[in-house]
Amino acid sequence: MSVPAPKDADARRAIKPVICYPVETLPQPDMADYTAARETLTKTDEVVVPPREAATFTVPAGHFFRITSVEGSQVGDLNLWHADNLTERFYSGKTRALHGTHITTGERMWSSFPYMRPMATVTHDTLGWYGIDAFGGSVHDVIGTRCDPYTHNLLKGGQYHHCCHSNLTRALAAHLGVSTKDAEPHVHDVLNVFMCTGFTRDTGQYFMKASPVRPGDFIEFLAEIPLLGALSACPGGDCSSEHSSDTAQCHPLLVEVFAPDADALTNWSSPEPNGYNGSHGA
Ligand SMILES: [Zn+2]
Repeated sequence: MSVPAPKDADARRAIKPVICYPVETLPQPDMADYTAARETLTKTDEVVVPPREAATFTVPAGHFFRITSVEGSQVGDLNLWHADNLTERFYSGKTRALHGTHITTGERMWSSFPYMRPMATVTHDTLGWYGIDAFGGSVHDVIGTRCDPYTHNLLKGGQYHHCCHSNLTRALAAHLGVSTKDAEPHVHDVLNVFMCTGFTRDTGQYFMKASPVRPGDFIEFLAEIPLLGALSACPGGDCSSEHSSDTAQCHPLLVEVFAPDADALTNWSSPEPNGYNGSHGA
């Protein structure tokens, strides 16, 4: 039974929102330093992520990595860990709380508690022009979790094995030389690279629409700490219609790693873990 609205319902709704986490006091990256370092890059490694599969890569702290659309419009699901400590991993929820539902140049991917420091800073985004469209959609989503076989089973039944969650699990297992059972708990909520998403205004539901990414577009990051990454080329392809199936047209994604000149990044140092003392008042 629906609850009747109180007399002052409109007045309550009319209260203006305030930003949960004003970012004026957030330590800012020195983008001028990063931008200058970008001009000195030498490629050191690359990996091609096949469609409906995932691949891992490592990036030393202070090096750059770039995810590029090749062949066709394709969304990627990105996991990041500290290369030497898998318990420090990307914290999608806190990144969303700090930067909003989507990230672009100058914004960061933050790590989990108790570390909570920048793992990677976006240094270039060829889709930065997109902004927020008329539907409330934008690109490089930190809303979504990752397509997974459990939700698929719940909603549609069946056993589909090439959801991003499974792709990431297999790739991490192969990298670590462990079983998928042991690798799976390390897989976490992703940065949905190139994915165009938002929330519907009328029902507040999570939506996706065809990614604006085209071959040659890329998003590039500075690794703030030593990183192990895993990227899945989502079975949803450009995520214009469906995922969790082999229906959509899918394309590979290219990951490249670059070293800046040794005398670049003069103002940069790898960030320390968060300054909270961890006692929790006990
Ligand atoms: Zn996916």
